[in-house]
Amino acid sequence: MRQPLVAGNWKMNGSKASAEELLAGIKAGIGGIQQTEVAVCPPFPFLQMADQALQGTAVALGAQNTCTESSGAYTGEVSAAMLKDFGCKYVIIGHSERRQYYGEDDAVVAKKVAQVAENGMTPILCVGETLEERERGEMEAVVARHIDGVLQSGVEAFENIVVAYEPVWAIGTGVTASPEQAQEVHAFIRNRIAQKSASIAEGLRILYGGSMKPGNAVELMAQRDIDGGLIGGAALTAGDFFAICQAGDLNVQA
Ligand code: PEP
Repeated sequence: MRQPLVAGNWKMNGSKASAEELLAGIKAGIGGIQQTEVAVCPPFPFLQMADQALQGTAVALGAQNTCTESSGAYTGEVSAAMLKDFGCKYVIIGHSERRQYYGEDDAVVAKKVAQVAENGMTPILCVGETLEERERGEMEAVVARHIDGVLQSGVEAFENIVVAYEPVWAIGTGVTASPEQAQEVHAFIRNRIAQKSASIAEGLRILYGGSMKPGNAVELMAQRDIDGGLIGGAALTAGDFFAICQAGDLNVQA
């Protein structure tokens, strides 16, 4: 049985004051979550505050990006070692916003995944197709390409990776993939890994991301190959975030 993971991606939102308030809400609510692993991924400047606020709780800390290189003259970048130093367990890599707006291709994503793993953290590797790609019938080809960018370095990498299937057309749009649509892609991803190693595929956690909300989380997480969620908008409100975490717990108990 794979332990569900619900990770909040705060993106570039909030202020010092609002981050403090959200962290206090998360600290207050985490006691109600029993079976689901919970993680929050604030913007870089809030990591230290989050690390301190979450000390002694079961909430894991994550970051939203890192550099392809380990140190040196890379102005404006943040290394994986720094994130480790600030208490991160997870780093989101290859989010569609990074791929779309910052030109990150599969080679860059693979380098970042390697940096995160080498520094003892777990990459949350985001994959997913745009609406145009889906409509052209290219969903499987795109997702396969995103997975293969990392798979080519060896299936063992997936022993320490969480995959997040995030259809680009569902991110921040209010449109969610139906449980059947999401399950189909999650099964496709697991099968692709299983072609190299059945046991690694069986242990791989595959999160769904894209307008997951309290109202659709239970049904999505009830799907056989959906092991939790990567949550954007709904992670900015402690109440909604915990309602989604509870959907993970319900799924374990079912
Ligand atoms: C995300 O950006 O990872 C995401 C899933 O966003 P939202 O939940 O807002 O669609």
